[in-house]
Amino acid sequence: MKHFPIFLAVEGRHIVLSGGGDAALAKLRLLLKTEAHLTVFAPDPAPEIVNWAQSGRLTLCRRAMEPGDTLCAALFYAADEDATEDARTAAIARADGALVNIVDNLGDSQFITPAIVDRDPVTVAIGTEGAAPVLARAIKTDLEARLPATLGTLARIGKAFRKMVEVLPMGRARRDFWAEYYFAEGPRAIAQGDEAAVAQTLDDLLARHRAAPDRPGHVAFVGAGPGDPELLTLKARKTLDSADVVIHDRLVAPEILELARREATLIDAGKEGFGPSMEQDDINRLIVEHAGAGAQVVRLKGGDPTVFGRLDEEIDAVEEAGISWHIVPGITAASASVATIGQSLTRRGRNAAVRFLTGHDMKGFADHDWHALARPGEVAAIYMGKKSARFIQGRLIMHGADRATPVTVIENASRPGQRVLSTTLDRLPQDLAEAHFTGPALTFYGLAPRTAQAALAHTRQELA
Ligand code: SAH
Repeated sequence: MKHFPIFLAVEGRHIVLSGGGDAALAKLRLLLKTEAHLTVFAPDPAPEIVNWAQSGRLTLCRRAMEPGDTLCAALFYAADEDATEDARTAAIARADGALVNIVDNLGDSQFITPAIVDRDPVTVAIGTEGAAPVLARAIKTDLEARLPATLGTLARIGKAFRKMVEVLPMGRARRDFWAEYYFAEGPRAIAQGDEAAVAQTLDDLLARHRAAPDRPGHVAFVGAGPGDPELLTLKARKTLDSADVVIHDRLVAPEILELARREATLIDAGKEGFGPSMEQDDINRLIVEHAGAGAQVVRLKGGDPTVFGRLDEEIDAVEEAGISWHIVPGITAASASVATIGQSLTRRGRNAAVRFLTGHDMKGFADHDWHALARPGEVAAIYMGKKSARFIQGRLIMHGADRATPVTVIENASRPGQRVLSTTLDRLPQDLAEAHFTGPALTFYGLAPRTAQAALAHTRQELA
């Protein structure tokens, strides 16, 4: 971030602008929305500027700017649309101690003005650091369509009511009150009546929330998907958005954690494959402790929580403590991985069933399971299978599997740095070692990427 967004307090402060043409007008239209004192220096001002001056909305000096004109100014805009004059006025303002913006000159400006969605007191500022003004405008249009024009009114009335709401306990109780006001009762009242109706609604709502019993703690076991934040379900997003505490796995991408409320407590309960880890019992205890204290806990797991996530142990612990819970499913790594290689998990005439296996449990895999898996056409998605590749290969070949059976390993499915290794059972351990996969990887036994599969079928045909 080369520019840090802030909201500057300008009430009663001076903002100075030099220029009287189109660029000056565009900036002044924005600046007139503020409660700052505006002064414009322009020997030849546009008629709009003259009108604003006559109606007392700004001070107009019909001359070029001179040293000392920007003393005590908070901001200065060089808007003469003339490089030499802009450089001259900017130098004066800088010497006078004002923050300087030169219109359409990003490099020499100390600050830039964002695209603004105005629902005062709610203001959305959009910046692209000058990279894509088109994008900023598109986002602005999109937000303007989405944020009702009445939002500003609701926020203004709500702001005046903030003190009253302090009778509710801090934290969740107050958040629930405001959420109901802004997203349900407030819009309804304003649609049906006027500002008085909104004020009455606030009174009623507060009385109702004061009488309501405290919401007990709760645990949501939420699937975070394979990594791409866009593969998160809407329900997962919503649940994250209202969490007090988020206890997450190592596999959960930072972009997804960003979606939690800023005030939420984030706890990393990452269990590194074989490295330092938090014991399952500690995780269970942590979940129960927070939910027991009344928090809305999100237990956030990579992929789908019901797939190799030790979910049942956590549910048992939560149930034992008498705490309510529910599951929000997610997209499992196997689904994201087949999507990457353009394949189906099942396919009529090839495999009617697919096995989900974990490399961790392979040692206890019974002989009859290996035998079944070694049959032609079988497909298995092997989670955490990197370390056991050689063992798996040995067992399958021992039970009669074809050494030429396709095997595909997908690392970082749906994440940046996604890689696909397409090999055969015969070459799996060597190829995997050479690929040096360090991210999470899923091994598909019996599946090749669709393009490789087509090439393979073609070769077979030629041989026949
Ligand atoms: N509950 C998760 C799986 C947890 S086990 C799910 O449904 O996906 C962790 C294993 O999942 C990793 O060792 C790896 O084998 C696999 N995995 C998770 N995310 C992955 C990704 N983005 N790409 C490839 N494999 C992934």
